[in-house]
Amino acid sequence: MSSKNQSKESQLLKIAEEIRACGLCREGKTGLPVPGEGNPDAEIFFVGEAPGKLEAKQGRPFIGRSGNFLRGVLRELGLKEEEVFITSPVKYLPLRGTPSKVEITHGCIHLARQLAVVDPKIVVLMGNVAVWALLGLEGAVSQEHGKVIRKDGRSYLITFHPAAAMRFPKIRAEFYKDFEMLKKFVRK
Ligand code: URA
Repeated sequence: MSSKNQSKESQLLKIAEEIRACGLCREGKTGLPVPGEGNPDAEIFFVGEAPGKLEAKQGRPFIGRSGNFLRGVLRELGLKEEEVFITSPVKYLPLRGTPSKVEITHGCIHLARQLAVVDPKIVVLMGNVAVWALLGLEGAVSQEHGKVIRKDGRSYLITFHPAAAMRFPKIRAEFYKDFEMLKKFVRK
């Protein structure tokens, strides 16, 4: 590993430690912290919503059903799992389903620091929670998916949450199209 990657890795480990020690992150939630994982120097940075039960048991993001689906789509499109970074704005499993805006806003403090370290070419916002967390847009996914938005020097691609793509064939087809767009963007 290059020294740049080593330093990024140690910075990410430090942020993961801070998440582990953060009382606010844990409030109203359960299980292990799920800081995120992947290549510290990834070109693609995926953002979901919050860990599910399996993720909270193992402390790893997107390893349940929707995670298998997401990781499968990446492989199908020739994008390597070990070349991306995957995380969520909310770092623990919320006790009451969908996280509140206060919880999302708090999680964004840690997420923004992770983003600054990885400094990817593109951030993929999967679902309305991710879009609200990083772009402040409400309920934008169905209208705005497939678009690359520039904000504060970063590029963001809006798409659906993999759980929705897995469940609904029409959304799945759009999700694949959005990922083709992603592929084009990173190969540019
Ligand atoms: N959904 C998410 O948004 N994140 C996970 O880690 C798992 C499911």
